[in-house]
Amino acid sequence: MPCRSSKEFSSLAHMVHAFTIDVEDYHNVVARDWLGINRPPTRAVVENMNRFLGWLSERSVRATCFVLGEVAEVFPELIREIADRGHELGVHGYYHRQVFKLDRESFRKEVGDAKRLIERISGQKIRGHRAPAFSIMPNTAWALEVLAEEGFEYDSSIFPIKGKRYGWPGYPMDIQRIRLPNGLSIIEAPLSTVTLFGKRIPACGGGYVRHFPAIFSRWAMRRVGRERPAIAYFHPYEVETPSFEFDTSHLGRESERRAIRFHRMQQMNRASMKRKILGLIDEFEFAPLGGIIDHAMGDS
Ligand SMILES: [Zn+2]
Repeated sequence: MPCRSSKEFSSLAHMVHAFTIDVEDYHNVVARDWLGINRPPTRAVVENMNRFLGWLSERSVRATCFVLGEVAEVFPELIREIADRGHELGVHGYYHRQVFKLDRESFRKEVGDAKRLIERISGQKIRGHRAPAFSIMPNTAWALEVLAEEGFEYDSSIFPIKGKRYGWPGYPMDIQRIRLPNGLSIIEAPLSTVTLFGKRIPACGGGYVRHFPAIFSRWAMRRVGRERPAIAYFHPYEVETPSFEFDTSHLGRESERRAIRFHRMQQMNRASMKRKILGLIDEFEFAPLGGIIDHAMGDS
């Protein structure tokens, strides 16, 4: 794997941004969250990740891959492939359970089991965590203490916005070390936002890249990059085409309507993602989040 770490951090005159991927399988997560069916991740996550890994290797870009424990359990060869190509591995929970659905001990098990498994498969020491659906918020801030106790050096789960499903309004936007009530500390790398018409909105990742025109995401990256590194994030399933239909006939009418609406939104603009992602890679400099954090904290 080509390694360009000296180039990655040689000059901040040229802002270097973080490229992150939350490695989860849509079929598995949707089945559990929307259909109430427990089934393991499918090979789609491997095939979609291989596309990402190919694009990144061709352009000598290294990323951070926050992996679900259950994906690592079913497809350990994918984890080894990510590590062999020089990417950083992190944890995205074990079963993609949002933090507010867990208590301290079940959250500790989710992240601890995933960390130990991914470390064992990859031989890499895991430093970072991203919560499913950015679910570290004011009422789940205790999760940061558990992460520090489990040996995580950094977290990248807080969206400093007032959102419907997630967000921590007013949270500082810079990477910084936080002192925790349990006497430990952790570094938080909040997700990127831009301010439009006086309102902070998410930018630089996921559905915000998929649904907005490419020119908006490029503007947002430049705007964020004037002050701090942007933290771009993607999901393997966002580049999955063609996609599939799923059976909702066992759901009640209202649940079925909501599931179908969610699924339609998730399918929209997937065909545009490859072009948008490659456009960002070609225009901006990217590196793994761990390295961006080291640079921001003055450790490199
Ligand atoms: Zn996720």
